[in-house]
Amino acid sequence: MQIEIIEMEETKCRFLLKDATHADANALRRTLISDIPKMAIDQVEFHLGPIMADGKEYESVTPLFDEVVAHRLGLVPIPTDLELMSFRDECVCEGEGCPNCIVMYSLNKIGPCTVYSGDLLPLGHEAFKVKDPLIPIVTLSDGQAVLIYAIAEMGTASRHVKWQATTGVGYKYLPIVSIDESKCDQGLQCVTRCPRKVFDEVDGKPVVSRVLDCSLCNTCAEDCDQQAIEVCSDPNQFIFNFETDGSMTCAKVLEVALSILEANFEDFGEMAASLQA
Ligand SMILES: [Zn+2]
Repeated sequence: MQIEIIEMEETKCRFLLKDATHADANALRRTLISDIPKMAIDQVEFHLGPIMADGKEYESVTPLFDEVVAHRLGLVPIPTDLELMSFRDECVCEGEGCPNCIVMYSLNKIGPCTVYSGDLLPLGHEAFKVKDPLIPIVTLSDGQAVLIYAIAEMGTASRHVKWQATTGVGYKYLPIVSIDESKCDQGLQCVTRCPRKVFDEVDGKPVVSRVLDCSLCNTCAEDCDQQAIEVCSDPNQFIFNFETDGSMTCAKVLEVALSILEANFEDFGEMAASLQA
């Protein structure tokens, strides 16, 4: 397998997977979806009883059930450094919770206001401040307030989707669009009718300029009076797309996914070898 990066932004990427089978591509897709570790809020403690602020008494209540607020907090992308953090049950603290495996947040707001993800304040390093501060959590009316302590820990999406670092993971075969110049009558229907604008006109002739954008819809081949265009796909090359939720960069997620796949393949090879012995 080889990877050629087409586009690599912080939270969005596109690459070409070469010399691979459909099974390889699907294994990478499944690893990207469910095996990448990331941080997410897993425990939320709500203060009960009145909250005093600015000489006024507020009721610690919101229009939503506490479990709904906790669920919304769980889905907020938490910045994740895989070099710093470890799984809580594998940590040296043996699951008690320490700076190596958990991050604590406080959330203290009085109404009327909308509580946003940016109101979650990390107790400790500022690096854990939520990067997307405008995710609405709950709206408080006058006299309402929340005082919350939340604990984030590492997990993977095979346990719960809140630990899914990637979104929109998908791939398609690399399209191959060829024009038989001996048949082409330069009617240029392909240039005007292709919905993805794959063709350009150069010196009166159609030229395939953006083959990566082709969706294999076959409109160009069907509309060509001379049947000069053939559209097929390469079964060993795939165009891959995915985004992250912002907790990690795409480059980091791809690197981690490939190392997880490599380890899984090695384990599988060893198990197969032990069966033969
Ligand atoms: Zn620990």
